[in-house]
Amino acid sequence: MYYVGVDVGGTNLKAGVVDEQGRIISKVDCPTQVERGHEAVVENMAHLALKAIEKAGITLDDVKSIGVGIPGVLDPRTGRVPFCTNLGWHDVPVIQLMQKVIDKPIYVDNDATVATLAENVAGVSAGAKSSVFLTLGTGVGGGVVIDGKVYSGAHGVGSELGHMITVAGGEKCTCGNRGCWERYASATALIRMGTEAAKKHPESILNKAENISAKTVIDAAKAGDKAALEVFDEYTEHLAVGLVNIINFIDPEIIAIGGGVSAAGEFLVKPVREKLAKKVFYKAMPYARVELATLGNDAGIIGAAMLGR
Ligand SMILES: [Zn+2]
Repeated sequence: MYYVGVDVGGTNLKAGVVDEQGRIISKVDCPTQVERGHEAVVENMAHLALKAIEKAGITLDDVKSIGVGIPGVLDPRTGRVPFCTNLGWHDVPVIQLMQKVIDKPIYVDNDATVATLAENVAGVSAGAKSSVFLTLGTGVGGGVVIDGKVYSGAHGVGSELGHMITVAGGEKCTCGNRGCWERYASATALIRMGTEAAKKHPESILNKAENISAKTVIDAAKAGDKAALEVFDEYTEHLAVGLVNIINFIDPEIIAIGGGVSAAGEFLVKPVREKLAKKVFYKAMPYARVELATLGNDAGIIGAAMLGR
C-alpha cells in the first residue's frame, strides 16, 4: 500500500506518494494561490494529490490514505482549521472539502507535528521510541514523540516547545509573553543578536552585509569574526538551556534539529553538545543524542503521508 502526503505552504503546495517505509516515490508541486480563497486551494491540494498518484504510476486503489500538513492551528480529529495566518484561513473544513474530490480517508495535522513524525519514521530519529524534533526557523517549532506517537496533549496544543519561557522577563514574544525560548533560539533571534552586535562592533565583518541574516552571522562566526563568535556562543548557550529543560523533562532517546539554522551543521551541534554535557542533571547516566535532522524539505510530504499509517 501507498500513502499520499500533501505539504501546504503559504507559497507552494507539494504532494508526493510515499511507501510504507517513508520513501518518496513521486513528488509534484504547484503555487498555493492563497488569493483564490480556501475552497480553490483545498481543491488544488486534492488535484495535486491525484497528480502525484498518476506520476507514481499507481491508481487511487493502491492508496490507503491521504495526509495533509498545514502551517496553523487545527483540530486533527475533525480536520477543521480554525485559524491559519499564513493562508488567511478561518474555520476551514479541510477534510470535508477534500473528500468532495477524493473519496479516501484523509488526515490533517500541524506542519511541525508532521515533520516530527517524518523524522521519527524515515529520518534521523527512525526507530526511536521517544524523540523530539525541533525546527529553528522564524520561530522554534517542534514536536515530541512518545512510544512512537506524536504527543499533542489533552487539548491538542501540546509541545509548543518554542514558547517555554527560558528567560523570565526577557524579550517580548509574538505570543504576548516575555522570554520565550524562540526569542533566543530561532533564526530571528540570531538576526536580532547579530544586528545588535554589528552596531556595537564597527570592526566586525557583520557590518559588510546589507541585511544581516542567520546565515550572515553563522558565516561570520565560521570565518572567526570575534563579534559573530560571541553572538553564536550566546545563541548556542540559549539553545542548550532549552534542550536541557527538554531532556530533564522528557528524557527522549534523541533530539533532531532541523530548520534554517541547522544548515550550520556540526558547527552548531558540536558546541551545543558540549554545553549540554555540563548542564544535564544526571551526568553519570546516558542522555539524549542531539543530531541534525536529515529529511529537510521532504519532511512535510513524508510526515503528512505517514499520518495515515
Ligand atoms: Zn512565546
